[in-house]
Amino acid sequence: MQKKALIVFSGGLDSILAAEVLKRQDFEVTALTFVTPFFDAEKAKESTQKLEIKHIVKEITKEHLKIVKNPPRGYGKNMNPCIDCHGFMFKLAGKIMQEKGIDLLATGEVLGQRPFSQNKQALKLIEKIAGLENRILRPLCAKNLPETDYEKEGLIDREELLDFEGKSRKPQLALAKKYKIDYFPSPAGGCLLTDPGFSKRLKDLFEHHPEAQEDEINLLKVGRQFWAGENKVIIGRDKVDNQNLKDIFSKHTMIMLKLAEYPGPLGVVHIASEDDFDEALKLAAEKIKYYSTKTRGLDEVILIYWGKKEGKTRC
Ligand code: SF4
Repeated sequence: MQKKALIVFSGGLDSILAAEVLKRQDFEVTALTFVTPFFDAEKAKESTQKLEIKHIVKEITKEHLKIVKNPPRGYGKNMNPCIDCHGFMFKLAGKIMQEKGIDLLATGEVLGQRPFSQNKQALKLIEKIAGLENRILRPLCAKNLPETDYEKEGLIDREELLDFEGKSRKPQLALAKKYKIDYFPSPAGGCLLTDPGFSKRLKDLFEHHPEAQEDEINLLKVGRQFWAGENKVIIGRDKVDNQNLKDIFSKHTMIMLKLAEYPGPLGVVHIASEDDFDEALKLAAEKIKYYSTKTRGLDEVILIYWGKKEGKTRC
């Protein structure tokens, strides 16, 4: 019977190489990618198609958000709770592995690549949190780590695994060349929780609204942001922002505004407090008028708004 491996998979070069190492040891590899407002599965979808391996995509926003707000092992450099996040992901992966009768669980992590979560102690701790001690294989750095149960049981040949360590990408690029892999995506993008600018916005949001959920977090990705009391005002900077605001817009919790007679940016008010609504509407109208080159400096313009509330306002 063919051996089966499940790999927690971001779609970047490390996870592609780790999957390829497993394929070369005759495993049928299934990739597992988690999705939240902070990271998506787009890169991973492309990479799994190229690798011709099965792909499971799992949405984990609700549970993951609890960890982001209150991580028992703290944050890395930004708002990234990598140790608890990985512990949680591997715990879920372990369950999926059992349900599907998969023999081995792996990840593309490299020892020492990230100081907070990929040192030896942290890797051990993550296994403990996940309830998977010695049962997470890291093919790219396995030779620098204690033997896993899979190696001891003879399921996989340790000699064919690698000994990468540290931040340099050179060994990975050399291995990609050896394997003739040329389709890996750029390292840019990835998890927004490691982005300093986004982390600042997120921290600020949690200070205002500890209960914030997905819609408010998605709004942090777009446009110019202002507070009006407890309500967030967002103004699009360009066409892309305007489109993103339309995509994120919810008529249950927000209003959208635009100039009635001129082109200009779209604005969104997320209504967390009815008491602060008039203040937020006034601020949004002022900002839209200011950021439209057609209306800046005019005496008065009309704006229309719709969504949770509907009407016209003058500014
Ligand atoms: S970088 Fe983001 S997704 Fe990855 S472990 Fe850290 S918090 Fe989780």
